[in-house]
Amino acid sequence: MKKETNFDVIVCGGGAAGIMLCQALTKEPFFDQCSILLIEADNKNQNDRTWCFWEEGEGQWDDLLDQQWERAQFSSKEFKTDFSLSPYRYKKLRGIDVYTSLYAQLEKADNLTLLRSKVTALNPEGEFCVVETTNGLYRSKRVFSSIPHQRFTQQSKYPVLQQHFVGWEVETENPIFDPKTVVFMDFDLPQKNNTRFMYVLPYTPQKALVEYTLFSADLLPTAEYEQAITDYLLQKKAGKFKIVEKEQGSIPMTAYDFAQHNRPHLLHIGTAGGWTKASTGFTFKKTERKVAELVAFLKKEQPLNRFERKSKFHFYDLLFLDVLAKYNGDGNRLFTLMFRRNHPKRIFAFLDEQTSFFQEVLIMLSFPVGRFVRALLRRIL
Ligand SMILES: Cc1cc2nc3c(=O)[nH]c(=O)nc-3n(C[C@H](O)[C@H](O)[C@H](O)COP(=O)(O)OP(=O)(O)OC[C@H]3O[C@@H](n4cnc5c(N)ncnc54)[C@H](O)[C@@H]3O)c2cc1C
Repeated sequence: MKKETNFDVIVCGGGAAGIMLCQALTKEPFFDQCSILLIEADNKNQNDRTWCFWEEGEGQWDDLLDQQWERAQFSSKEFKTDFSLSPYRYKKLRGIDVYTSLYAQLEKADNLTLLRSKVTALNPEGEFCVVETTNGLYRSKRVFSSIPHQRFTQQSKYPVLQQHFVGWEVETENPIFDPKTVVFMDFDLPQKNNTRFMYVLPYTPQKALVEYTLFSADLLPTAEYEQAITDYLLQKKAGKFKIVEKEQGSIPMTAYDFAQHNRPHLLHIGTAGGWTKASTGFTFKKTERKVAELVAFLKKEQPLNRFERKSKFHFYDLLFLDVLAKYNGDGNRLFTLMFRRNHPKRIFAFLDEQTSFFQEVLIMLSFPVGRFVRALLRRIL
């Protein structure tokens, strides 16, 4: 029988959610006497992703920002709008900068131990949760796990789409980018019965991250994403171009009930805990908000499975995804209607789950009401 080592808190997975939680706990005097174990399998020394989010005014990541923009563009065949993001700014972080900064802070914290190891099982047992790793067993009354799982793919109650993409950071011969304006969604490309768009983060007139993105059920062969980026650059008359960096990802978009896997002593966090905004795939900013809520909740010393509460926004996401999954080739039209009929500030506030019911009604009335009513009836009957 292997010896178990006890900690007050164990955080499994040191990606965005794990390190944000550890940072918040180590900064909060209430937890000064808590021993914290962070278990991460990877060295976190690669720039494996780019995190973008919109935010009003200044924020906690400003010192680490790589870029920020004050204007954005939405385009489709029928409608194009170029708008000020005010009062928001669209901010970009390089994953590696976040990992480097937060791991350096965590390594200095007296009450945190970092274990580079692979978690092999999480076993809730009575008053504790036992974490099995390749280095031994660890036990705590408060275990948080952001380790990805695929349980949402093993059900049919909630459709599962993916936000999947390949991005190339390119340097082009011709100055084709407007460095002041993020291209949030450019649907002016073949949809092939899916929701397909280009997302462009411009740095200079000749340098940008160009990402071919789909909201759909099935991933594509890599060559298909790459061909679409090449075609786009050709269409924009980029001339010759050089690929500086590549990014690839797939983020689940589902209203699946992730919270059902939580236990009194085990809470799933980050994407594994359903913290990804189901209708967009955005996770980073929501994780910041959820971590703040979680730290306040932990002070009340309640069972961890009481943390998650479903809001009306969960229900809106559910209906939106039901419609988007059923009419995947019409995503282009849905987003066009949303941007045509609403001020961008209202859209961003809605996606941040910060709108009033009246504003939500206005957003909903932008969409083809019949499809949403049928989706609603299918859910409640
Ligand atoms: C390429 C890419 C770009 C993205 N861009 C954005 C964006 O611009 N804006 C946005 O809001 N969201 C974005 N997302 C979505 C989301 O913000 C990220 O996926 C985010 O990293 C999720 O945080 P997380 O902590 O849930 O997962 P992760 O950051 O993936 O962290 C999970 C951690 O668990 C570790 N791990 C896995 N298995 C084990 C194991 N068995 N034992 C120990 N450790 C383990 C992993 O190494 C990893 O460090 C992006 C996602 C990807 C993939």
